Amino acid sequence: MSETQSGQATDAIRHADILIIGGGLSGAMLAAQLMRLPGQRQVLVIEPRAELGRGEAYSALELGHTLNGNAARMSVDPDNADDLTQWLTEFIAAGGWPESDEQHVPISELFPPRGMFGLYVQQRLAEAKVAGLVIGSTVEHVRAEVVDLQTEAQAVRLTLSDGQRLQGTFAVLATGMFPAARTPQTESSGLNAAALDPWDVAAMQQLDPQSTVLIIGSGLTMVDAVVSLEQAGHRGPIEVFSRHGLLPHVRRQPPAWVDFLAEDHSIRTPRQLLRELRRHCREAIAQGIDWQAPLDTVRAHIGRLWHQATDVQRRQFVRHVRPWWESHHHRSPPLSAEMVERLHGEGRLRIQAASFQGLEPSTNGEVSIRIRRRGEAHTTMVSGAALINSSGIEYDWRRVARPLPQQLLARGLIRPGPLALGIAAEVDGAVLDAEGRPAERLFAMGPPLRGMWWESTAVTDVASQAKSLAARLATPRPV
Ligand SMILES: Cc1cc2nc3c(=O)[nH]c(=O)nc-3n(C[C@H](O)[C@H](O)[C@H](O)COP(=O)(O)OP(=O)(O)OC[C@H]3O[C@@H](n4cnc5c(N)ncnc54)[C@H](O)[C@@H]3O)c2cc1C
Repeated sequence: MSETQSGQATDAIRHADILIIGGGLSGAMLAAQLMRLPGQRQVLVIEPRAELGRGEAYSALELGHTLNGNAARMSVDPDNADDLTQWLTEFIAAGGWPESDEQHVPISELFPPRGMFGLYVQQRLAEAKVAGLVIGSTVEHVRAEVVDLQTEAQAVRLTLSDGQRLQGTFAVLATGMFPAARTPQTESSGLNAAALDPWDVAAMQQLDPQSTVLIIGSGLTMVDAVVSLEQAGHRGPIEVFSRHGLLPHVRRQPPAWVDFLAEDHSIRTPRQLLRELRRHCREAIAQGIDWQAPLDTVRAHIGRLWHQATDVQRRQFVRHVRPWWESHHHRSPPLSAEMVERLHGEGRLRIQAASFQGLEPSTNGEVSIRIRRRGEAHTTMVSGAALINSSGIEYDWRRVARPLPQQLLARGLIRPGPLALGIAAEVDGAVLDAEGRPAERLFAMGPPLRGMWWESTAVTDVASQAKSLAARLATPRPV
């Protein structure tokens, strides 16, 4: 992958057709799709990380940090559901993942390590790059952060952290997710500085193995943090605090179930959806079929249901359904779930329904936090040798302390999405400005569109958005 890195500020402006801001899975897949379309185009992917295609999710180094779906569910090719299985088959045959033998399941049912998935994404991008060169299209990695963006009648201009300036016909915000720990709110509470990174096994190896570790949040990041602690040799108590005290369910491979939402378009509200879903789950269980089968049919419709819902209905969903949706839909890979279950069974991992109230001054080298247990009016202080914040993602861009989101908001080029989740956009990804007008040259994809589609982060969401956005950018409408 060619890469540009300039430490020098320069007045020259570099031109390209399409500027992709962010080179995680979204940016890499959009670039790959653009290379495969007819017509010549120059694409620059601006990404501060050393490698494209990984982002936070697929930079994972541990084999235990796996995808939460099996290979059959995680293809980046919307036209070939077997693409990852095929890649993995070759990779394993070449000796790439000898440990996979121990699982005794077909390759399509393996849950690949996320770092390995990153390699797959990179390989598919490299192949697309070769295909692009044949027709005169190019992709280049510019290693920097975009700190400002301006739109003009005929172009979009970017300013980079190293002073470079870029100009393109279109720009795409593929900036991914911003961890909650990097927001001003949590930064000012000191949580960010006090907490260990959930994936930093080396830092965890410095802990006394018998010490108590506190974890805030009980979703899939907590599961990863527990895997990291085990890998680091930690054998002490793990205290997990989350508002509802719900652990993610384990992902099983249920048989197909009737797609009841495809058959019944009268289901529109969260209440109707829950009622019908519960009915189907009861029916499935009565037939000896896993409740996950009916639940999995909902996924394909969630974007449509969310998009057509009113803000009141969306709020109802967030308030009443979200915790259960998160724990039932965003399920844990089996091997990680087994580990969490084992530690829970041994009494080493305890999960409590309690909300984080704030950080306390540290004493005796310990980190202390104040929590409020569900149903209690008073708060309680708890202490441990270390704290891990796995409380999730900050989707409200007004609270993201990075230059680009702040500049875009200040310039009125974007507006918050529904319920302040991400940013507002048209169905084709064209972002809406502060007055609600769709941009002609600025688009977004992936997690920034959370408010538009609710589910806009998973591999399959990103892969299908990359395909449709590439087609949109390759056939510009007259402006
Ligand atoms: C730990 C973790 C595990 C996950 N596991 C799964 C899973 O198992 N299955 C699944 O389907 N999904 C999973 N996901 C969801 C996953 O995020 C998405 O699949 C995918 O990473 C989204 O890709 P992205 O490129 O939009 O965002 P990201 O991967 O977050 O990449 C965005 C990139 O943009 C860059 N960037 C941000 N701002 C700027 C700027 N101003 N200038 C330049 N670059 C910028 C960042 O450096 C980053 O590399 C996981 C997510 C995480 C965080």
